Amino acid sequence: MALVSLLVQKFGGTSVGDAERIRAVADHIMRTRRDGHQVVAVVSAMGKSTDDLLRLANEVSSTQPPRELDMLLTTGERISMALLCMALADLGIPAASFTGSQAGIMTSDEHTKAKITEIRPDRLFEALDQGFVPVVAGFQGMSADRNITTLGRGGSDVTAVALAAALKADACEIYTDVTGVYTADPRVVPSARKLPRVGFDEMLEMAATGGRVLMLRSVEFARNHHVPLHVRSSFTWEPGTWIVEEEPSMEYAVVTAVTHDTSEAKITVTAVPDRPGVAAHLFRAVAEAGINVDMIVQNTAENGMTDISFTVPKVDLRSAVAICETLAGELGAASVSYDDTMARISLIGAGMKTHPGVTAKMFEVLAELGINLEMISTSSIRISCVVREDVVEHAMRALHAAFDLDRAS
Ligand code: ADP
Ligand code: ASP
Ligand code: MG
Repeated sequence: MALVSLLVQKFGGTSVGDAERIRAVADHIMRTRRDGHQVVAVVSAMGKSTDDLLRLANEVSSTQPPRELDMLLTTGERISMALLCMALADLGIPAASFTGSQAGIMTSDEHTKAKITEIRPDRLFEALDQGFVPVVAGFQGMSADRNITTLGRGGSDVTAVALAAALKADACEIYTDVTGVYTADPRVVPSARKLPRVGFDEMLEMAATGGRVLMLRSVEFARNHHVPLHVRSSFTWEPGTWIVEEEPSMEYAVVTAVTHDTSEAKITVTAVPDRPGVAAHLFRAVAEAGINVDMIVQNTAENGMTDISFTVPKVDLRSAVAICETLAGELGAASVSYDDTMARISLIGAGMKTHPGVTAKMFEVLAELGINLEMISTSSIRISCVVREDVVEHAMRALHAAFDLDRAS
């Protein structure tokens, strides 16, 4: 390892949740520097303050122009960055705060879900050269037409990984309120175990299916740019979980983790004429509104008619339903309905590829609990089922035990 290494350390909302936590983070940065590392810090908004800002916007406005919403939401991270710099100054550590735009984070212009297009990190390099700790506001950037943008919920993870790639950091450390990536959300499954290492393929599937400890795009970015990623706790500071490149020689667990996701809703377009081009037309319109479609099920056609069901993020439900209703006439569909009380439960494991029978066992466990499966989808290393939201936690614990993931007691 080089004598002086560079670490990007990202601190999530709970990690900077109050004055005491902010001082603890400053103390940790000081110790990291003492150990001979340079540090760039990335901070989230304090505690649940992004939710509070969203609530305020809802109270004030029913239109919420996206440009203004982004301007509002970025303030949360600005508070944390300034306070952390003050706490560092008290410890005698020179630190300087940077908004996303000051840190050179350029994005697309899709407000509230912008993508990073380029990073111009010269100001951060200058600050590092002068011995400062740059503290960057996560979750935000600036579009080509110089509007302030945000990167989507959980987006500080992307800021951190993207900065680590741009600065060629030795590692990106994601400090959060759990000690690493677990076999299931430890808040739902108390017997879940911490995984010392998780492969990128599995981590991508976990992040895509509700394992919100890392935002999906941060995992994609880390894989594409070979950023060593370490998820760990800002409460215990113990070593956490490394996200690593899979090695062909590794033997994989059949099931590594169980995830759940209650952030999606199902839309059903009934009695659509079963002819080529209908699905293309429908999903093109949804995609053009910037809405991500996840699971899709088309029923067998009867009398030349078929039903199409698909899931979208709950936050996009209203606009997706409106698009479908507008198109229903054109497509000749009978009706559009939706369900926002569903949840998705998934099993993930790279060893699934070579072990048949995981699907059958998953269905058996759920059947024994009397749980009905409303939609099913699979990839080579994942099986997902849509179930009623009120049974998902019970199902998680049962699957976790059935696939021998429980901590040995
Ligand atoms: P931060 O504010 O630090 O970004 P998040 O709330 O976004 O924190 O992510 C951490 C949370 O992710 C944990 O508190 C935990 O409840 C949840 N989580 C969901 N699935 C997992 C998992 N498989 N392993 C660890 N944490 C998980
Ligand atoms: N504060 C933002 C959010 O709550 C970004 C983040 O925490 O990563 O989504
Ligand atoms: Mg997060």
